[in-house]
This record gives sequence, structure tokens and C-alpha cells, in this order.
Amino acid sequence: MGSPENNGGNAQAPVVSNFIRDMIIDDMKTGKWGYKVVTRFPPEPNGYLHIGHAKAICIDFGLAKEFGGVCHLRFDDTNPSKEEDEYIEAIKRDVRWLGFDWGEHLYFASDYFQWMFDLAVRLIKDGKAYVDDLTAEEIRKYRGTLTEPGQNSPYRDRGVDENLELFAAMARGDFEEGSRVLRAKIDMTHPNMNMRDPAMYRIMKTPHHRTGDKWKVYPMYDWAHGLEDSKEEITHSLCTLEFEDHRPLYDWFLRQLPDIHQPQQTEFARLNLTYTVMSKRKLLLLVRDGHVKGWDDPRMPTISGLRRRGYTPESIRAFAERIGVAKRDSVVDLALLEFCLREDLNKKCKRVMAVLNPLKVVIENYPENQTEELDAVNNPEDESMGTRKVPFSRVIYIERDDFMEEPPKKYFRLSPGKEVRLRYAYYIICTDVVKDANGNVTELRCTYDPQTRGGASPDGRSPKGTIHWVSAPHAIGAEVRVYGNLFTKENPEDTPSGNFIDNINSDSLKIIDDCKLEPSLKNVEPGEKYQFERIGYFCVDEDSTPGKIVFNRTVTLKDAWARMQKKG
Ligand code: ATP
Ligand code: MG
Repeated sequence: MGSPENNGGNAQAPVVSNFIRDMIIDDMKTGKWGYKVVTRFPPEPNGYLHIGHAKAICIDFGLAKEFGGVCHLRFDDTNPSKEEDEYIEAIKRDVRWLGFDWGEHLYFASDYFQWMFDLAVRLIKDGKAYVDDLTAEEIRKYRGTLTEPGQNSPYRDRGVDENLELFAAMARGDFEEGSRVLRAKIDMTHPNMNMRDPAMYRIMKTPHHRTGDKWKVYPMYDWAHGLEDSKEEITHSLCTLEFEDHRPLYDWFLRQLPDIHQPQQTEFARLNLTYTVMSKRKLLLLVRDGHVKGWDDPRMPTISGLRRRGYTPESIRAFAERIGVAKRDSVVDLALLEFCLREDLNKKCKRVMAVLNPLKVVIENYPENQTEELDAVNNPEDESMGTRKVPFSRVIYIERDDFMEEPPKKYFRLSPGKEVRLRYAYYIICTDVVKDANGNVTELRCTYDPQTRGGASPDGRSPKGTIHWVSAPHAIGAEVRVYGNLFTKENPEDTPSGNFIDNINSDSLKIIDDCKLEPSLKNVEPGEKYQFERIGYFCVDEDSTPGKIVFNRTVTLKDAWARMQKKG
């Protein structure tokens, strides 16, 4: 059996048990599945994976790993009209990036089409499936409602030979799309609507990305999924709660074929996040209609978007562990995901100085043309990350926000006549404020105390405020992209029109194009992450080039988050 150390590849996350883990522990005691755990993650390749899928991946792969089993990556490619190879590659990349490995167990449902077809023929021969000529509209009418039983189709009692012939003709492409379906013969009065003779095959003449135009009939999810699990000898087929009502059908199909492997389906709650939509259909709409720049837009809840934004696999796995596995749906606060991210970045990131909204400061008593190299600590919480030198000179930039001409009472940053500490450098006092014709502050004149080098004074005085800065002649220019939530409401679906697009935040991207970075950031590479002191965590975007550095704001610092919350 596995140990907490190899849970999801995340050594840090504490293992909290859940009903699925408990079930597997039981099964491993009784030997129900021959002491094996075989799970699968079965995405339909019709879009990019999102953070909800990440939860499922952590459960499917994480549990298999924990119990020394395997997890298959299976593309559930049974609907040729929506699937693309681009999605397959993206999904593989994302699962790997999250830190999971399917080894040789990469499968495609389409590889089982012939086998599934033959089993459908077997059900027809057993009198358990029939070809129905009713239109989709009629089928719906005959189906009844939650309170009324359905009615048998007039085609329900066709003979086996006729059914076999018609199904073969369907498969040859003799009939129009929508003109016939193959249905399971179960019970039109069953209280569970899914059991009222569900469709098993429909006619579709769209070529398939892997089987080309070989097939003119395609299996429906409920028929296909259990068979896919069976074919791969899955023990624990884990899926989300919306499939709970389908489980009787999943089981019914398998019970009609007692000689094939009988897997077991168990459902867990979907992940929902505030300020986020999480269905591939909706995410596709955002991409297609240009509300975002692509599937990997850093505002998207896709794994590729989160990666580009600066999320780490460790932070996402820690989040998945923290939210746990429940049997009831709930909405998780986006702040929790961000909390897990900060926890991880805090340990890993170098802290550097960057000024997002620069205000020029001239230190009048500092010698012209002099530069000093001051020592800066890379991460005060991890000495092993060492120190670096940052240049200091007569002209520096500070954050515009860090100066106020008429400060309120508890303002400890820079203001006329007040002393402030420059991080790793000196104490300065503001002596003069330079303004343009409109009264906007364009420059500050200050003096420094040469006795305070390194940020301490021999006389023991200590200013209340410490601010960050960048030496002007050494500064590197950069573009910084600041992201807000993609939606203005916690529940994006909360709109009178019912259209989540109405709740899009038109202000979710702000580009600041003249930020000043300390020179140690001159040669950054896409994907690198830093903490900009006092501001937040930032990640080099893939648009970044040596000539034009581009950073994404990954997440604010904790206090900034709390402050924002307070301001509302
Ligand atoms: P979507 O509605 O976003 O397209 P889906 O369920 O259709 O999602 P699939 O590709 O069929 O997407 O899903 C693959 C697996 O991921 C399924 O087992 C599904 O249960 C799981 N999954 C999908 N969304 C979530 C979610 N929000 N939380 C947890 N698991 C999810
Ligand atoms: Mg789906």
C-alpha cells in the first residue's frame, strides 16, 4: 500500500482521508479487486482542461499512485463533431505538467469502437436492444416526464433479424443522420428517466479524428463509458456527481454482459470556484468570441492559463488536497486557490525590487556619478537562497503610491519632511516636491543620511516606513500585465438573462507599460517567478523577449488581498 509521502507526488500535503480513499482501503483489505487499483482520467478532447479537471486528475492519479496502482489517461473520443487533435496534445501536456504519469496507459475510446459495436449486436441478439425509427422529437414525447411514465415506441418489438439488418444498414450509412437510433430495451416506465430505453447509437456522418470515415454510427456516453472502463479493467471508475443518476444504467449495461470485466463507478462532487465558469463549452465561448486571448489567457481557469499566470503544479495539487473529496457539491472561494499559490511561491521565489508606477526621486546630497552596490537578501525565509547586489545612485524611482504630499495620520511612507527607509539602502527625507503646470507631482527632491547605509542608523532611530526603489540609470523597463477576476460576480451565472457573458469584467486586464525593474532581472526567461517586494508575485510571460520584458501579475501579496477585501 502507498504512504502519505507519495500522495499525488506532493510530499508536503497532509493526507486527510475521504470516502473514496476509505473505500479503496477496504477493497485492499478484502481483495475485492485482486488487490489492484486501476483508475482512469477520461477527458473528452473537446477543449482544454480546467482547474476542475485538475481536481479529478489529482483524485484519479493521486489515489492510484498512493495505492501502488495505475491510472490510465483515456481520451473519451466518441463524439467526432467536437474533437480536435490540438486538444489531445494540450491535455497530455497539462496532465504531465501537474506531475502525473500514465506510463504506457494511454488509450482512446475510439480504439474500442469495433468491440463495442459487436457487443451491441450481442444485445440485439439477446432481445435487449432495438432500432427505433421515431424522430428525436417523438422520442422525447414518448419518454414521459419525472412524474409520468413513458410509452413504448411502436418499433420496440421488432424482431431480432430486422433489428440486426437495420443496425447494419445504419452502420453502412444507408440512413440519414437523426432518422434512427439503436436503443436499449429496458423499461419505459422506470422512475429513473435514464433507464427509459436510452439511446446506444446515433447516426453521424462526421469523420472522426482517428477512425476517419469508417464509422457512420457513434456510441452514446452511457453505453460507451462502462465498456471503456471494462475493456481497460478499471477497478474504481471515479467521476463527478452528475453521473450518479446514470450509474444504474452503467451497471445495467455491464450486467447484460456478465463475461466482461465489471468495474465500479463512484461519484464525487465537482469543483466549483467563485468568479469562475468551468465548463469547456463556456470556456470555448470565451475564446471563440474573443473575450480572452486564448485558452491559455492568464485570466482563464484552464490549467494552461493558470500555468501562464504563474501557478505551480505544487500549488494546484496542494489546493486539490485541501478542498478534499466530498459527496456534495459546493463552491470553493477563489481566495483559497490563491492562498495555496502564495504558500508555495513564498518559499520558492526570489524577492526583488520593481516599481510599477514610478516617481522620480533625486537625492540631492548624494554624489553625482557615484554608484554603490548594496547587499539584498533573496529570500529572508530561506538563507540558502543567498544574497545579491543592487546598485544605488543619486536618482531612483519609487512607487507613486509611496508618496503623499498631505498624508493622513497613519501614513508611514514618504511625505514632505518625513523620513523613510529605502529597503537595503539609506534613510531619506523629502525636502521638495516638483510639480508640472497642472499641479501633478513629477519629481521629489530628497536628502539621505550617509550614516544609515544598509538600512540602520548608529543612533538607533528607525523610521516606521520602509519602501522599495530602483536606481534610475540602472533600471530595466518592463511591461506588467495586471489581472483581475474575469467575472464581476461570485457566481457568473447570476444574471437575469441567464447569460454569463453579461457578467464579464470589462476591466480584467490592465497593462502597465513603463515599470522599472532592478537590473538583476535583465535576463529573465519566460516562466520564471519572482516576488516583487511589497507588491506581489509575478511571472515572466511567454511574450517576453530580451528586448521587451513582460511580466504577468500572478497574485498579490496576502496583505494586499486583505486590504482589497476590506475596501470591497
Ligand atoms: P466540462 O463540463 O467542463 O466539459 P466534462 O465533465 O464534460 O467537463 P470531461 O472531459 O468529460 O469534461 O471530464 C473528464 C473528467 O473530469 C470527468 O471524470 C469529470 O467528471 C471530471 N471533471 C470535469 N469537470 C470537473 C469539475 N469541475 N470538478 C471535478 N471534476 C471534474
Ligand atoms: Mg463533457
